[in-house]
Amino acid sequence: MPTQHLDTDYLLIGAGAMSMGFADVILSEDPTARIVMVDRHANPGGHWNDAYPFVRLHQPAAFYGLHSTSLGRGGEDLSSGANLVAYYRDAMDAFVRTGRVTFLPMSEYEGDGRITSIVDAGQVTTVTARRRVVDGTYSHVLVPSICPPRYEVDPGVTLVPPNELARIRRPWERYVIVGAGKTGIDSILFLLDNGVAPERIQWIMPNDAWLLDRGAMQPDLVLDTVVAMVQSIADAAGIQDAFLDLERQGIVFRLDEDSLPHKWRCATVDRRELAQLRRLEDIVRLGRVQQIGRDEIRLDEGTIDAVPDMLVVDCSANGLAKRDPVPLFAPGRVTLQPVFMCQQTFSAALIAHLELLDLTDEHRNRICTPVPHPEHVLDLASALVTTTRNMLNCNRHMALWLRRTRLFLGHHAPAHRYLLGSGKLAMVQRRATASMQRMQRAEPAAGAAERREAVGAGA
Ligand SMILES: Cc1cc2nc3c(=O)[nH]c(=O)nc-3n(C[C@H](O)[C@H](O)[C@H](O)COP(=O)(O)OP(=O)(O)OC[C@H]3O[C@@H](n4cnc5c(N)ncnc54)[C@H](O)[C@@H]3O)c2cc1C
Repeated sequence: MPTQHLDTDYLLIGAGAMSMGFADVILSEDPTARIVMVDRHANPGGHWNDAYPFVRLHQPAAFYGLHSTSLGRGGEDLSSGANLVAYYRDAMDAFVRTGRVTFLPMSEYEGDGRITSIVDAGQVTTVTARRRVVDGTYSHVLVPSICPPRYEVDPGVTLVPPNELARIRRPWERYVIVGAGKTGIDSILFLLDNGVAPERIQWIMPNDAWLLDRGAMQPDLVLDTVVAMVQSIADAAGIQDAFLDLERQGIVFRLDEDSLPHKWRCATVDRRELAQLRRLEDIVRLGRVQQIGRDEIRLDEGTIDAVPDMLVVDCSANGLAKRDPVPLFAPGRVTLQPVFMCQQTFSAALIAHLELLDLTDEHRNRICTPVPHPEHVLDLASALVTTTRNMLNCNRHMALWLRRTRLFLGHHAPAHRYLLGSGKLAMVQRRATASMQRMQRAEPAAGAAERREAVGAGA
C-alpha cells in the first residue's frame, strides 16, 4: 500500500473525550480549520470503548462531553458507557461530514507526523500540521481490560477484569475485588445491585480515599460546592481539617468514619451507593496485593486465606494517575490537560478556545495552567487554588464564552448566584493560596511519600 501524505492545520493524536472536545470547538469557532485525528481504537471516545458494560459517568452528563452538543437528559442524569461511545461516534461522523476532518482509526501515531495502520503494516500516512500537533494522549487512562495486574497470579486462580462481571454464568462462593478506586466501587455496586450477599464479597483496599458526594455535584449546586471547597481550604488549619469541614457540609464522605483517608481522586458516589458499600464487612486493609494463590493472598502487610471457589476481579489499574504537568502551549504543540479540577472535557474545550484567541503562547500559558489529576489529600488544595486562578483569569479574557458553555460548572448557576460565587472566589483566593502553602510546608513528607506510591490503588 502506498504512503499517503496529508496537509492539515491540526494533527490530533488520540480521539478520546479530550481530543474530541478540542476538535469540536476548533471546528465550530474557526470555519477554515482542517484537522486530522488518529487513534488506535476503531471508534472515537477513547477509554469509554474499553470500559466495563455497566460503567456510567460518575458526575452529571449535563457538564460532560462536547461544547456543541448536549449529552444526557439533563439534571442528575449520568450517561452510560454505551451512550458515550454512540455520542462520540455520531460526533465524529458529523465532524467528517464537514469535509474538514480526516479520521484515521485503527492507527498508531509514531511521532514526527508518521502514522501506521494497525491492521496493515504497509499503510503509512505522513502528516504536516501547519498550526499544531495536539497531544490528546496525556491522560494516559488505564482501564483493567487493557492493563494486566501488576501482582502475581498463580495458575488455577480465576482472575477477570470487571468487564467479565456482566457475563458471569454461575454463582461463585466468594468475589474478591482488588482495588479501592471508582472501578472497584462500581464492581461492588454491580454485584450488590444484582443480589449478591455482602458476605460473599471481599474488598481488597490498598488505600482509603475521600469520596465526593454526587448530591453536591448537581448542576444547580456545583458552583456553590466549588466555592465551599475553596473556602474550606482558606479557613482550615490542615488539609484533613478541610476535608472534615467539607464532610460536615455534606460535600465529601468516607467509607470508614473511624479513620482519615489519605487519597483524593474525585471519585464520586451518591448516598445510596455509600450505604450499599457500607454493607460490606470483609474489607482488607493490608496494602497492595503481591500474589494471589489458590490458598492464600499475599499483601504488603500480611497474608489472608483464600477459598478455592473465588472469582478475583482486578480493578487495580490506576485509571487516571497523577502526572507531572507540561506547558499547555508550546511552539507547534498543544498538550491537553485538565485546567479545572477533574473536569477534562471542559478543559479541552477551553484550551481550544484559548488557542483561537489572538494571544502569544506565553500569554495563553499564563491565563491557564494545568491542574494535574489529584491523588493525595494535599492535592485538593493545590488543585482548587489553581482551578480558581484559571477561572478568574478566564473571566477576564472570555467571560461570555465561559458563562455560555454548558461544560463549565458555573454555567448551570442562575446569574445572581454565578456573580456571587465568582465574587467569593476572587475574595478568598489569596487566603486559600496562603493556606495551601502552609499545608504543603507542614506535610511535605506525607505528600512526597504518597506521590512515590504510584500504582495499585485502582481507578
Ligand atoms: C471509569 C471512568 C469514569 C469517568 N467518569 C467521568 C465523569 O463522570 N465526569 C468527568 O468529567 N470525567 C470522568 N472521567 C474522566 C474523563 O472522562 C476521562 O479522563 C477522559 O475521558 C479522558 O479522555 P482522554 O481523551 O484524555 O483520554 P483517553 O480516553 O484515554 O483517550 C486517549 C486516546 O488516545 C489514543 N492513543 C494513545 N496513544 C496513541 C497513539 N500513539 N496512536 C494513536 N492513538 C493513541 C488511545 O487509543 C485513546 O483512544 C472518567 C474516567 C474514567 C476512567
